[in-house]
Amino acid sequence: MSVIILSYPRFWTAESYDVVVDSPLTACLMPGYVAAVLKERGISHYLIDAQQKGWGLAEIPTCIANLMGQEPYLLSLQLIYSFENTDKIIQSLKEVKDINPTAHINLFGYYPTFAYDLILSQYPVIDSITLGEPEITIAELATALGKKESWQGFPGIAYRDTTGNIIKGAYQSPIMELDSLPFPCRIQSETDSTFTYIQGSRGCYNSCFFCYINPFYGYQAGWRGRSPQNIVREIITLLEEPLKSHFYFADPNFFGPGLFGQQRAMELARLIKEQAPGIVFGFETRVNDIQESSLALLSEAGLRYIFLGIESGSQRWLDRVKKNIRVTDSIKALQLCRRHGLNISTGFIMFAPFSNLEDIAENLRFLKEQELLHTPTTTCHVLYHPTFISWGHPLYCMIRQKTGSEYFLGLDTFEPRVQLLYEYQAEVSRRVLAYVQGRDLDMSDSTPEEEKIFKRLNCLVIEGFEQALSLTLKTHKLPQLEASLSELQTTMLKKLTPAKACLSARSQAGDYHKTALLK
Ligand code: SF4
Repeated sequence: MSVIILSYPRFWTAESYDVVVDSPLTACLMPGYVAAVLKERGISHYLIDAQQKGWGLAEIPTCIANLMGQEPYLLSLQLIYSFENTDKIIQSLKEVKDINPTAHINLFGYYPTFAYDLILSQYPVIDSITLGEPEITIAELATALGKKESWQGFPGIAYRDTTGNIIKGAYQSPIMELDSLPFPCRIQSETDSTFTYIQGSRGCYNSCFFCYINPFYGYQAGWRGRSPQNIVREIITLLEEPLKSHFYFADPNFFGPGLFGQQRAMELARLIKEQAPGIVFGFETRVNDIQESSLALLSEAGLRYIFLGIESGSQRWLDRVKKNIRVTDSIKALQLCRRHGLNISTGFIMFAPFSNLEDIAENLRFLKEQELLHTPTTTCHVLYHPTFISWGHPLYCMIRQKTGSEYFLGLDTFEPRVQLLYEYQAEVSRRVLAYVQGRDLDMSDSTPEEEKIFKRLNCLVIEGFEQALSLTLKTHKLPQLEASLSELQTTMLKKLTPAKACLSARSQAGDYHKTALLK
């Protein structure tokens, strides 16, 4: 029994590009780890990135048929939440099965884990869904299918029984010793990107209300880290390839908890300096884990990029979502990272379930005071980032009854005036992002004229948001507010338009990492 581990082409739309959901960063090594475990167990497999192979959705069924013929096989597809395109992807899988009805089609990843019930009831072509951590489950499924043994009831699998009932097995036990996993297999497109991704840990020791990490791995799994020695061994292996010197940790939270987490990070820094000198790396972290002693060592070892999970400038909101940080932790983290000359990106959720206008006003004040609204791209992103809560997430279950929303809760959970403000800013931000195309993130080759335009755009976006917020705070009647914001939006878009003509349409580097950094 051969296994195909497939990543399909991504769909980006203006509406979906900035939705903080199903982060590609933390998911990016999943297929590679599945392949590595299959390889270790001697199970024949293909690790395929359809995009890198140039396979469109329409070609996937024929390409797979050419590869597998009429042999039975297991097709495990990492399904990313794809909004309105999910149907098209499933249709393509249906064609795969029409060509070879013996194929077993399995989905894995964040979205299928949360939406297993919905997917299995809507799409009979899906035979099974892997819940949570996929490596062991897919290997066991492949082995059972190969031996024509029963797999129903395996831990980590959801499926339909013969009567059509959906059965969800218990989760697999989490892999507590990550060092026991082989190094992930790499897909060519991944190795072509500027950054090589490394997974140093899984899970998180916190459980923010809006986050899907622990609901995916299971709360009992918590934060699990590879040993510094094991990570550095993989880095050294990767350094054997030419031009590989930039690494980015795909961990949801780089540091482990407390003193242990700090000591582990310092040990990693020491080993990198000693055994892999000259590399550059980055990671994402909670702000409370930023400490001078570990940051200094990590910077000496090559840390250049850091993504801080600030999320909000409103302490009330942070407390409501159980972020377990203080706004002052964020301020201190920013100061330390700046002192070490790091390239800082911020996770910031301006619009979220539970946000109210006071939170948004505090957010704006915080962003200005901390000088985080410095370029049009950054400003546009942080001023309108919404977050969505996926199907299956505990928070979804808690508030779904209020909305009846089918897949994701997001805008429909905002209070109406917050929603109108969001709609104002979303249009302005999308327009400016389309004009700028990320070129302001690295102005090394910008002309002085372009720099002036970026500065002007940035000021306009901030001024517009301030005016929109002020209107929203003082206008309580919705029709009146809607009309005022619409008028402001029209005026603002007119002011922004001249920039379009001035900025030549140079395209933004299509780097997987850059997308993640902006989120
Ligand atoms: S700290 Fe980050 S990774 Fe951890 S639960 Fe919160 S959002 Fe998720």
